[in-house]
Amino acid sequence: MGKPFPAEVYAARMERVARAAAGKGLTGLLVTPGPDLAYLCGYEPPINERLTVLVLSTDREPVMIVPRLERGDAERCAGGSQLRLLDWADGSDPYAVAASVLGDMGTYAVTDSAWALHLLGLQEAAAEVAYTSMTRTLPLLRAVKDDGELIRLGAAGAGADRAYEEILKRQFAGRTELEVAADLADLLRHFGHETAEFTLVCSGPNGADPHHHAGSRIISAGDMVVMDFGGLFEGYGSDTTRTVHVGRPTALEEEVHAVVRAAQQAAFEAVRPGVPCQEIDRVARRIIADAGYANYFLHRTGHGIGLSIHEPPYLVEGEEQPLVPGMCFSIEPGIYLAGQFGVRIEDIVTVTETGARRLNESPRELVIVS
Ligand code: ZN
Ligand code: ZN
Ligand code: ZN
Repeated sequence: MGKPFPAEVYAARMERVARAAAGKGLTGLLVTPGPDLAYLCGYEPPINERLTVLVLSTDREPVMIVPRLERGDAERCAGGSQLRLLDWADGSDPYAVAASVLGDMGTYAVTDSAWALHLLGLQEAAAEVAYTSMTRTLPLLRAVKDDGELIRLGAAGAGADRAYEEILKRQFAGRTELEVAADLADLLRHFGHETAEFTLVCSGPNGADPHHHAGSRIISAGDMVVMDFGGLFEGYGSDTTRTVHVGRPTALEEEVHAVVRAAQQAAFEAVRPGVPCQEIDRVARRIIADAGYANYFLHRTGHGIGLSIHEPPYLVEGEEQPLVPGMCFSIEPGIYLAGQFGVRIEDIVTVTETGARRLNESPRELVIVS
């Protein structure tokens, strides 16, 4: 649950976003519970079958349709004073209430996290209205962070750094991936996160599978261990990866780690306003390809982060969006040698007026653990 910003922050966001929607030819926006709703009005109700939807448009004040039993919570949320609330009682038809607000024409962009249940209900009740994807029409809705958001993302990154520093002092060999993962989750919460969203611990050959989470494999001497972990700190995400080695690494392990580290550093140094997102991916990929590992870097270089862990902008080939100061995203190249081991190094960075600043400062060299 995020710590709210002052009411005027939400008022300004709702106004800016409604204007941006109008600029794209949209009648308005439909926002059900999730990160977009938290961003726009600081409201984080339960996400369930009862319809809650914020309707934003330029030609009228923001309206939020809420279940009657949650009306009090909606009134008290940080942006609540900016909203006209319409409630509906259990047993009545919430979609009919929504249809009366939407009218019978226009195009509304729908938040990505809307449940199919709710969107289908709206489509049936307000059948004359057209619906489109918010991410497709307004991909940068939350991409450029303000100072208050940057402070939280920085605190999240610092908390993740401290969790990493602490985990290095723990025993690896002889324990399962799940045991180390549980330690990481405890440490994230200990260092200020309200939730640990994911703690991937991928040892030995499991490290070569970017989708591996953590399992019952017992970590042993000679293993590379990829640890990718993060959570929410006052509502904002952390996401960092470091790869460590149990005991003395081989020459190949050292080489692969050095290549990934060089790619991560070069990509970081390439970040500055105006550079297209895909260029950051290309810089990292070129270094890995030049070292002979082109076919072993299996994913894009990074993703935006904020109220959600994965959000635009995406650092991927084909994404021509220029970087803008205040954007925050991961830089996380990796090399995955099937059946052997994997290496990934990930930091969150923010674009500044002149370049970039890292929100993770943990050492990036290959650390030897026991
Ligand atoms: Zn090894
Ligand atoms: Zn990650
Ligand atoms: Zn990531």
